Amino acid sequence: MNDTPKRHLLDLTTSELQVWCEARGEGKYRATQIRKWIFGKRVEAFDECHDVPAKLREALKAEFDLFRAEVIAHKVATDNTEKLLLSLPDKQLVECVLMRETKRRTICISTQVGCAMGCVFCASGLEGLKRNLTQGEILEQVLRLDRLITDPQERITNVVVMGIGEPLANLGNLIPVLETLNEKGGMGLGARRITVSTVGLPEKIRDFAKLDKAFNLAVSLHAPNDELRNKLVPVNDNIGIDQILAAADEYFEQSGRRVTYEYVLLSGVNDAPEHAQELGRLLKGRISHVNLIPMNEVEGLDFVEPTSPRTKEFVQILEQYGVPATVRKRKGADIDAACGQLRLKHEQQVTLDLPG
Ligand code: SF4
Repeated sequence: MNDTPKRHLLDLTTSELQVWCEARGEGKYRATQIRKWIFGKRVEAFDECHDVPAKLREALKAEFDLFRAEVIAHKVATDNTEKLLLSLPDKQLVECVLMRETKRRTICISTQVGCAMGCVFCASGLEGLKRNLTQGEILEQVLRLDRLITDPQERITNVVVMGIGEPLANLGNLIPVLETLNEKGGMGLGARRITVSTVGLPEKIRDFAKLDKAFNLAVSLHAPNDELRNKLVPVNDNIGIDQILAAADEYFEQSGRRVTYEYVLLSGVNDAPEHAQELGRLLKGRISHVNLIPMNEVEGLDFVEPTSPRTKEFVQILEQYGVPATVRKRKGADIDAACGQLRLKHEQQVTLDLPG
């Protein structure tokens, strides 16, 4: 009996799968065939890859798992947003979300188990970083969410890498994921339909720019000055807003893509007209866009979203500085769709259920 654990097929890039096929006396094109079934045809098992020779399918089954995570919760919100809580082989938990909007099918995926950035308003930051997700574990979220779409004509149209974790802190594993999302033999999504969100790690933003693709960059700013940002996003203490904006400017120059600045509105903390003015001065003249996010209330955290007039005033002030701003629509509010909430709840539940 062979006790060697199977590998995750999704950990292999196209060229690695080509090498594997060639080592079994098959042409490189078999790798393209296999990936077409997996990424384009929503198969659940290697046996469903009908034009792949039976012998090669047997070899795939013997050596690889296609899916490795277990779905331990699947929630559907009244607005049809769906959220999955996945348990990985080492029992770590990860979340991912599918959002539906007229023609768009946007998915939000996670890159780490937990997060080291410690943003004070975030459920994922509460328990720190456990580990990075592998390439396969990130891609499995994409495939699991894709398989929630039952209409064969419907496809995922947009991907936001904005779930649990700091994506650029796991850039090595994220790059092959982005390539697969973008590749014709993969998900075939244009780079402009893929957004990577970061708390702002300047050197990593520069590495990301070196990919020389038109991926969207979203920088989670959340405060217009270092004093306040250090309190809300503790990692800022070692970086500073100026460094982040300089790296984001370089990203724009390299990619030609307008940078989005994310700003979670916390009532009484960062939502005053003076904050909007300071943010307006900071971003004036930059080809950018501000995405204001109403705070999703998290159990155990005291932050709440501002009233609607206060939010509108914030938008108007930014517009006076020539900075376009939109307020993000709330999706899946009734299923804890904010980053990390479901995972945190589940872990707390498990802790409560433990004897003693
Ligand atoms: S908001 Fe994002 S970067 Fe901040 S702690 Fe949460 S997951 Fe990490």
